[in-house]
Amino acid sequence: MRKLKGIPASPGVANGPAYIFQDTELTIEKKTISDTSAELKRFEEATQSALEQIKAIREKAVSETSSEEASIFDAHAMFLQDPTLIDAIRQAIGNNAINAEAAVNEALETHAQTLESMEDEYFRARAADIRDVGRRVVCILLGIDDVDLSSLDQPSIIIARDLTPSDTVRLDKNLVLGFCTVEGGPTSHTAILAKALALPAVVGAGSDVLNVPSSSLILLDGQKGEIVVDPDEALQLEFAERKREHETRSSEELENAFNSAVTLDGFEIEVVANVGNLQDAQMALERGAEGIGLLRTEFLYLDRATAPDEAEQLTAYDQILDLMGERPVIVRTLDVGGDKELPYLDLGQEANPFLGWRAIRMCLDQPDLFKTQLRALLRSSPGHDLRIMFPMIATLEEVRRAKALLDESRDEVCAGGAAVAESIQLGIMVEIPSVVVLADQFAKEVDFFSIGTNDLTQYTMAAERTNEKVAHLGDACHPAVLQQIRSVLQAAQGEGIWVGLCGELAGDPEAIPVLLGLGLDEFSMAPASIPRAKTILRRWSKADAVKLAEEVLDFDSAEDVRDRVRTAQPK
Ligand code: PEP
Ligand code: MG
Repeated sequence: MRKLKGIPASPGVANGPAYIFQDTELTIEKKTISDTSAELKRFEEATQSALEQIKAIREKAVSETSSEEASIFDAHAMFLQDPTLIDAIRQAIGNNAINAEAAVNEALETHAQTLESMEDEYFRARAADIRDVGRRVVCILLGIDDVDLSSLDQPSIIIARDLTPSDTVRLDKNLVLGFCTVEGGPTSHTAILAKALALPAVVGAGSDVLNVPSSSLILLDGQKGEIVVDPDEALQLEFAERKREHETRSSEELENAFNSAVTLDGFEIEVVANVGNLQDAQMALERGAEGIGLLRTEFLYLDRATAPDEAEQLTAYDQILDLMGERPVIVRTLDVGGDKELPYLDLGQEANPFLGWRAIRMCLDQPDLFKTQLRALLRSSPGHDLRIMFPMIATLEEVRRAKALLDESRDEVCAGGAAVAESIQLGIMVEIPSVVVLADQFAKEVDFFSIGTNDLTQYTMAAERTNEKVAHLGDACHPAVLQQIRSVLQAAQGEGIWVGLCGELAGDPEAIPVLLGLGLDEFSMAPASIPRAKTILRRWSKADAVKLAEEVLDFDSAEDVRDRVRTAQPK
C-alpha cells in the first residue's frame, strides 16, 4: 500500500483500476535541409492537416460536452494561425535551413516556456495547449499516429502527466471514475473537465504516480487530494464510506439547490454564481444559482489577436442575459493588464504587475476600448436586470471618471437610436484596502459593493496570490480581512446600499457562517459550490451566526477562526 498527495482539484471519491496514460516519446532530430522550399511546403501541408484535425475534434467536443472544451480548440486553431509564431517557424526553415519538425518544436516550446514563466495561473495553464498543438503538427510531419485514450475499455482512474484537451475529447467519459495528474494546478484542463463532469480529480501529484503499475487498485479523494495505491482492506472500507457520504450528500444538496437559502430564523440569503462564459452560466443554473454575481468578461478578450468589437460583445452578453432571463446579472468590466498580457494592447513589462496598470486603471487610460464594452453592455440591457461593476477601484476619482464614461456611452447609444434599460445598478469591487478605509464615501457613489476577497487578501497581507511561497499568508479567513468586511458592511448599511462578496471566500464552507453573521446580502461563488453553500446557510440561524462572527473577529489568526467555525458547526 502506498499513499500519495496532490492538489485537490475536484471533490468526490473514486476507487478502481489505474489506467496509465503516457504519450509516446517523440524523437525529433534537428537536421539541416537542402531544399528549403520543399520543406516550407511540407510545413504548410502539415499545418493544414492539423487545422482540419482540430476542426473535427472541436465539432466532437461541441456535440459531447457543455464544458469549456470546445472553445479551447478555437484557441488551438488560432495558435496555428498566429503570424508571430508562423513567421518564426518559416524563418527557421527558410533562412536557417532547419527541418520542419525541429522548427515547429523549437518555436512552440519557446512560446510554451514563456507562458509557463508568467505569474498568472491561467497563462501557465495555456502552455499545455501550445504543446498540444505542437505535438499534433510534429506527429503529422513524422507520419506518426499519436496514442490516445481510446483504448480505455473498463471503468478506470486515469493517471497521466497532464491531460491535454485533445486527449480528453477522445476519452469515453462513461468509463472515467476520476483523474490524477503529475502536473497541473487548480485551473488546468483536467481540473476544469473534472469539475464540469462532476468527477473527482487530484492534480500536481508528482511524477511518482506514473510508476503505479497499470490496473492496480487506486483510491482517490479529490477533496483531500489523496491517492492510495494497492490499499489495504481497512482503507478500502474507509474510502467506500467517504464515497457513500459524498454521493448521498451531493445528491441531497443538489436536489435542494433550486430552493432558496433561508436561515433557521427566516432570513433569505441570495446565492449567485461567478461565471466566465456562457457554458458556466448554464452550469450555474443547473446548480441552483439565483443570478450571476460576477461575470468575468476577460473571456471575450483573451486568446485572440484583436480586441472584440461592440457587435461581437453585444452578441456574447445577449446570450448570457437571455439565458438568465430576469435574474440579476452583474457584469464586471474588463479586468486584465499587468500580468495578463493581451497581444493587441501594448501593456509592457512591469516589475510588480499586481500593483500595476490593470483593470480600471488601464480602461480609464484607453477610453475607446472601455466605451466599446460599456456601449455593448448598455445595448444588451433592455428587458434584463443587468448591473455593471468596475474592478480594482482604488480612488473616488476613478469611480467618478468611470461613471462619466458610462454616461457618455449611454448618450452615444441613445443617439444611435438603440434602447437602454431604465435602471441599471452600478457597483464597484471592494478589493483594495483604500476603498475599505473610505467605504462610507464610496457608498455615496454607487448602488452596491461586491467584496473581492481574493485581491483584498493579497493587498492586505502584501502576499501575491500566485506565489506558493507566501500562500500561507493568503487565507481570507484572517481577522484582518474579516474586520475589513465588517467595516464595509457597516459603511454600506449607513448609506442603504447592499453588499455582495464574490471572492473564493463566499463559497468556502468554513467562512459561510461568519459571512452570514457579518450581514452579507449576497454570496457569489463557483457554480459547483452553490448546492453546498445553500445547505450550510439553511443550517444556521442568523442570530447564532452573528454571535459566531463577533467572537472570531477578534481572534489572532485564520487557523483559529477556522478551528472555531468547525467546532461551532450546528450539524
Ligand atoms: C477577487 O479579487 O476576489 C475577485 C473576485 O476577482 P478576481 O479573482 O477575478 O481578481
Ligand atoms: Mg480581483
